[in-house]
Amino acid sequence: MTSSAELFATAQQLMPGGVNSPVRAFGSVGGVPPFMVSAKGAYLSDADGNDYVDLVCSWGPALLGHAHPAIQDAVHSAVDRGLSFGASTPDEGKLARLVMDRFGGVERMRMVSTGTEATMTAVRLARGYTGRDLIVKFAGCYHGHLDSLLAAAGSGLATLALPGSAGVTAATAAETLVLAYNDREAITAAFAEHGDKIAAVITESAPCNMGVVTPEDGFNKFLAETTTANGALLILDEVLTGFRASDAGYWGLTGRTEGWTPDLYTFGKVIGGGLPTAALGGRAEVMDYLSPLGPVYQAGTLSGNPVAMAAGIAQLTHATPEVYAHIDAKSLELQGALTEALTEAGVDHSIQRAGNLFSVAFGTSETGVHNYAEAQAQEAYRYAPFFHSMLSSGIYLPPSVFEAWFLSSAHDDEAMNKIFDALPAAASAAASA
Ligand code: PMP
Repeated sequence: MTSSAELFATAQQLMPGGVNSPVRAFGSVGGVPPFMVSAKGAYLSDADGNDYVDLVCSWGPALLGHAHPAIQDAVHSAVDRGLSFGASTPDEGKLARLVMDRFGGVERMRMVSTGTEATMTAVRLARGYTGRDLIVKFAGCYHGHLDSLLAAAGSGLATLALPGSAGVTAATAAETLVLAYNDREAITAAFAEHGDKIAAVITESAPCNMGVVTPEDGFNKFLAETTTANGALLILDEVLTGFRASDAGYWGLTGRTEGWTPDLYTFGKVIGGGLPTAALGGRAEVMDYLSPLGPVYQAGTLSGNPVAMAAGIAQLTHATPEVYAHIDAKSLELQGALTEALTEAGVDHSIQRAGNLFSVAFGTSETGVHNYAEAQAQEAYRYAPFFHSMLSSGIYLPPSVFEAWFLSSAHDDEAMNKIFDALPAAASAAASA
């Protein structure tokens, strides 16, 4: 079989950077990215015949591990009925219902194909509904690659140390206000100055694209109250956290008990069970502004694709309380082992948490990381040697310090022990960086 090195060399002649999504090029950690050929449970297998315990889980979708039999079966049987009809199908309503049953305040849904499409539509809808132009976002939050939200966007832009993207017009950038995360005074000041022009505040339910950052107690509730008081909408981006941080995402750990809901949510990743499906949902009054009922246009040839719907339904049906209890427990074990190994090796760090999602930040033990400026100020150079030590021990981590680590219900003790065994050497590598 062709090796990853050969495949990567060829891919670089065919695709910019050899990839179809930037972080896959290993830009910040260096080296040849393994080209994956199959995945099962907690493991990935590459073109060179290596197996890895996977801590990326397809960046979230593989909640039940790879190739879960229930999802595979649902997909196979959907495939046998045809791939795409360009018409409505019974399963779209079933998946919508599964989401509505879990997240408070979802009265209508619209299926799309990617998280980017979901946030792009939510932004347009918020503008159409309020008749206002400005969008508030937080530095370090990533919401997909739509023009209006690429400023200080975290994720791949943080990895590549880019302030934003070329190709976004000055006029578009001027309609996005970028504020520091967790900074209530900045929100109050922005509304005092521009209150009647702000269509929406968009926030990750818990930021996971500048590494993980915990929302301070009541921060999302404060955003919900402030937007409502000012006639603006709150868009809660649950693309990454949705159906992962809990059965009802990070909202399930906060809003559900605090008693607030956003006007709009965006979903992706887990909701599609590994196939390209995402969605937005929220208050009927706002959602009904979408075409064909309302004046805000949105459409999609493959939206609500029957194979993707089948995968999503199977995934959410099998995302039981036991699944979340398992992932929560394994996450705590791994956080403990990670911090123990780093402490033993004398590496200053903080473990950044949002429910079972977490990441490590280096040189930040005194205060932890609360916003993008603090995330960028960390000793990020310690991550590449840590990452490569883990990779050579057969553990596949996110290839950037600015990304969350993902577990699944398939991460059993055997897989966890492989990770634990690999940590001391990786911690030493981080120490000597
Ligand atoms: N929102 C958040 C919070 C995300 O993490 C991502 C992707 N990582 C997106 C939106 C965009 O989703 P997609 O990559 O499916 O366009």
